[in-house]
Amino acid sequence: MIDEGYIKFNSRWAETPAYPMEDLHELIMARQQLFEAGLIGAYPSGIGFGNISLRHPIQGNPDAFYISGSATGNVTQLSPAHFALVTKVDIEKNCLDCEGPIIASSESMSHAVIYRECPEVQAVAHIHDLTMWESLLHKVPTTDSSATYGTPEMAISIIDLLRNTDLKQSKLFVMEGHEEGVFAFGNSLEETVGIILDN
Ligand SMILES: [Zn+2]
Repeated sequence: MIDEGYIKFNSRWAETPAYPMEDLHELIMARQQLFEAGLIGAYPSGIGFGNISLRHPIQGNPDAFYISGSATGNVTQLSPAHFALVTKVDIEKNCLDCEGPIIASSESMSHAVIYRECPEVQAVAHIHDLTMWESLLHKVPTTDSSATYGTPEMAISIIDLLRNTDLKQSKLFVMEGHEEGVFAFGNSLEETVGIILDN
């Protein structure tokens, strides 16, 4: 069973018009690179995979971020209509607030903890690649095998890696409990995409 795309957090979504292209242009370009490399996309069943985000501080939350919307993995070319702004996350309550023309990606909570733990990080990407996943498993920081996609347990496992391994320097980790799942982050979109394409 492909465990992807199904939202497991309690979402409070305030629907708004799309955000300006000038905010999202670089994010759309970076997502396009990963899409064309087959690292964000859709399975033959039509279920999309992969997501990408960019820090966008707002009043009251320096860790807010834009992220590709739920079920956009199969869209060939994204536009501002495909992005949400995550404004607040509560891991303990498994609750996420977002705004925008689309609901935020089901993996938003994992992105959120990286921004919160790493104030210098500007961009985060989650991709799928079986070869990369197999070759990196336990060779780079690896989340707990019992932590599944899009759950508070996954977020907690990521925090543990950020605090107790060299992940803040290496900026790349594998999700053992989410086959094919790899995450990278960086101080720019360029760095984030570069880390993925170099592996
Ligand atoms: Zn995934």
